[in-house]
Amino acid sequence: MRIALIAHDKKKNDMITFAIAYQNILAEHELVGTGTTGTKVMEATGLHVTLFNSGPLGGDQQIGALVAENKLDLILFFRDPLTAQPHEPDVIALVRLCDLQQVPLATNLGTAEILIKGLERGDFAWRDARKDKVNE
Ligand code: PGA
Repeated sequence: MRIALIAHDKKKNDMITFAIAYQNILAEHELVGTGTTGTKVMEATGLHVTLFNSGPLGGDQQIGALVAENKLDLILFFRDPLTAQPHEPDVIALVRLCDLQQVPLATNLGTAEILIKGLERGDFAWRDARKDKVNE
């Protein structure tokens, strides 16, 4: 599966903790991420993350473009609910595209833990079937 990692600045520590805790599961998948989040995850874990722009510089939109083409299977996007973001419209657009394509999206650590355990258990196999159907 292809997984996107995004975290607002005050949630980056959560993302690093998460990536270290679930490193073994994440290592079995293809990771992409916004610039700063992806770099920090690579530094903390040694996992490879394909980097897009930083979120405020269009990274969320680049990831959204992959969702629009149904090329992402899981988005882990740890949002900061207490800080105004200059790229809030991009954040909203990304959430909308996930709903459009039925792509599982975690916006906080609690949901991410449930989804990553589902991923490990094989609960995401339906994504392959859906991708095949969309690409027909
Ligand atoms: P960043 O972007 O990983 O480059 O900080 C995340 C975001 O704010 O969307």
